[in-house]
Amino acid sequence: MTSSTAAPGADYADTASAAYRAALQVIETVEPRIAAATRKELADQRDSLKLIASENYASPAVLLTMGTWLSDKYAEGTIGHRFYAGCQNVDVVESVAAEHARELFGAPYAYAQPHSGIDANLVAFWAILATRVEAPGLAELGAKHVNDLSEADWESLRNKLGNQRLMGMSLDAGGHLTHGFRPNISGKMFHQRSYGTDPETGLLDYDALAAAAREFKPLILVGGYSAYPRRVDFAKLREIADEVGATLMVDMAHFAGLVAGKVFTGDEDPVPHAHVTTTTTHKSLRGPRGGLVLAQPEYSDAVDKGCPMVLGGPLSHVMAAKAVALAEARQPSFQAYAQRVADNAKSLAEGFLKRGARLVTGGTDNHIVLLDVTSFGLTGRQAESALLDAGVVTNRNSIPADPNGAWYTSGIRFGTPALTTRGFGAAEFDRVAELVVDVLQNTQPNSTGPTGFSKAKYTLADGTAERVHAASAEMLAANPLYPGLTL
Ligand code: PLP
Repeated sequence: MTSSTAAPGADYADTASAAYRAALQVIETVEPRIAAATRKELADQRDSLKLIASENYASPAVLLTMGTWLSDKYAEGTIGHRFYAGCQNVDVVESVAAEHARELFGAPYAYAQPHSGIDANLVAFWAILATRVEAPGLAELGAKHVNDLSEADWESLRNKLGNQRLMGMSLDAGGHLTHGFRPNISGKMFHQRSYGTDPETGLLDYDALAAAAREFKPLILVGGYSAYPRRVDFAKLREIADEVGATLMVDMAHFAGLVAGKVFTGDEDPVPHAHVTTTTTHKSLRGPRGGLVLAQPEYSDAVDKGCPMVLGGPLSHVMAAKAVALAEARQPSFQAYAQRVADNAKSLAEGFLKRGARLVTGGTDNHIVLLDVTSFGLTGRQAESALLDAGVVTNRNSIPADPNGAWYTSGIRFGTPALTTRGFGAAEFDRVAELVVDVLQNTQPNSTGPTGFSKAKYTLADGTAERVHAASAEMLAANPLYPGLTL
């Protein structure tokens, strides 16, 4: 394991290079277009400033682990109780992944099967319902195809499950779709109310949250976020949950790496406070695409039935890669990485603020920086596209009380996990802020008439993209992705 500031893998780069060359040669013999797209993806990732807060670069060890015959095995069920014969090696894989997760996060129980973050949340919802609600049979509704369920059917389903209530962070304050919003099952199954942030400061208002919870009395209080640039006091959320009889479920998908790396400890570490904690494994945690559920003992039996209750058969090759990534995250070098992720976000935020930009909450103390682009006269959509033209990969995001709605938006979300993996430090992130401001200052919304402006079309001043590309190319070359890996 490397202790340098670059991604893990530098110390076995020659072996990994040989493995990838051989793998691509094999793929090429069957479908050359897939081999070509795979090579091109590496080149593209190497050549762009990846600032998407939910992305990272997994190590070659993690990536290679996914390409094996473990993929070929069916293993529905749980460790030692499978619906298929011959699962002895999958049992080992799942046990090792769960053991690393328990040790890393100090959790009494870990479930390594969820295929993604949404699936992990689905397991958590069903486990909480199964543990806390006496649900009568759902057979009649289960006989219909889910797409054929009418609003009345959904109402009936909610009634059968006891009209349960769920409260999570509002989307425009930074919550996630799975925290009770209509396009997701969580918003169909539950009566939902959301909590927001203080309109002045943009910070979570725990008193308002407690008052809303007292009034609404949710069965499930969801903590966690996708775009909130601050730390959360999970001890306080647990106090509120206990007071109103709610189960506290925390979705730490975004900041699991900061928990694993001991940047968030005490009241900021959700695991000891939440009844059920869910996460993805591929964001700041830097593992394969997938999910995990951690639970207190009273929920573990129900979580363990995630497959086949709401999940398809486990992806054994991905569980194996989770085990490898979690082993990496237990190394001291991962704690240093996580601290740099947070330090770099501060540097990026300060870089924006000193150049006059406005940030939601005025800064950051996690891995996310949320820039309000209205002061540049742009929508999030225009800013996102102009930045992409200049090789800066971000995503547009709503801001609280967003005047441009959820499609065009008024914000750009930045995250530091990926470029920190490449070795970027505070100076590079300050330079990133300078380049972003350069692009935004040189982008104009297109006019649609005497007083109107397009929310999508824009013009980037000549020479801007080239200037920013050249500056970022220097930083990217100095901090190579997968150093020593040649195809
Ligand atoms: N939970 C949170 C907080 C997220 O931000 C995301 C994804 O962005 C998810 C869940 C969903 O994860 P996945 O895409 O792996 O299903």
